[in-house]
Amino acid sequence: MKYLDEYRDPVLARRLLSELESTATRPWTLMEVCGGQTHTIVRQGIDELLPHGIRMIHGPGCPVCVTPLEMVDKAIAIASRDGVIFCSYGDMLRVPGSGGDLLGVKARGGDVRVVYTPLDAVSLAVANPDRQVVFFAVGFETTAPANAMAVKQAASLGLDNFSVLVSHVLVPPAITAILDAPDNEVTAFLAAGHVCAVMGWTQYEPIAAAYRVPIVVTGFEPLDLIEGIVMAVRQLETGRAEVENQYVRAVRRTGNSRARDTIDEVFTLTDRTWRGIGEIAHSGLRLSEAYRHHDAETRFPVEREATRESEVCIAGEILRGTRLPTDCLAYGTACTPRHPLGAPMVSAEGTCAAFHTAGRGRQATLEEQ
Ligand code: SF4
Repeated sequence: MKYLDEYRDPVLARRLLSELESTATRPWTLMEVCGGQTHTIVRQGIDELLPHGIRMIHGPGCPVCVTPLEMVDKAIAIASRDGVIFCSYGDMLRVPGSGGDLLGVKARGGDVRVVYTPLDAVSLAVANPDRQVVFFAVGFETTAPANAMAVKQAASLGLDNFSVLVSHVLVPPAITAILDAPDNEVTAFLAAGHVCAVMGWTQYEPIAAAYRVPIVVTGFEPLDLIEGIVMAVRQLETGRAEVENQYVRAVRRTGNSRARDTIDEVFTLTDRTWRGIGEIAHSGLRLSEAYRHHDAETRFPVEREATRESEVCIAGEILRGTRLPTDCLAYGTACTPRHPLGAPMVSAEGTCAAFHTAGRGRQATLEEQ
């Protein structure tokens, strides 16, 4: 297939779904880990087209949603300082911290700016030598190479006024944490194609083998996702637990070695707390010793304050795939994309926003399904 339309061909979709119908003999629960895939699945109603017993649950694949509350609070504290230009992607400005968000800082006169790439933030540092420019570096393995490049560029330019507030997270440790959870029901995973385009899929191989769980590297178009589901169910039905690649047009087993090398040079592994999930060992990145000079946490020490989550928000359970957005009492009423109470309603990749955008109303809870 060469053109976008072919990845949305309804005839092919029906053929794959009918193959799935004849392949599946038992109930299976699959998780897509990527928020972009969640949006396609929910917007296209793919989860509602699957044969009875094949269930999709939506994982912690939204970078904005899993950025820990403590880090959002830290961002707000740093952005509130005089002389700081705080840069972030647009979604992060609306993520609720314990007592407000970055947009609130901007409204109170703080210099908070939306950038489209981390290199824009480096350019701001060059253009404003008398100000401190801080970039909020969040996201999975997909955004890490560009953020690493920005740090490298700032270092090579000798910029003393550029730093990054790093809150990167990594997908494989999250998959392991989900599989280790006592209430885990996931029997197969769709791995996000763009993460694997950077990192390859070798790191999934030990997970598939140790937990006997199929993992299918999958793209983002409707037919990619349906084919990924078919491949996973074929494995489940035949007792295989391997890593397979549906997204052959973009992903190689070892990924992009130059991007991986850049990440390895600038960042090092660290334990990371995931919002709504908790701490996962070795699941994040922080600046390596050679680039610690550009660490905003060191440059702007912030006294640790008690964090306060919304009492009604069940984002943690949604991110672990144990509840649906429509199980939340605030969904679509107190919590909407215009007035989000939790991060999954803010981001374009959040599961609650995906459900709301697709017009899903309150419906059967996971327990009732
Ligand atoms: S609907 Fe809003 S309040 Fe409920 S879980 Fe989602 S983000 Fe949280």
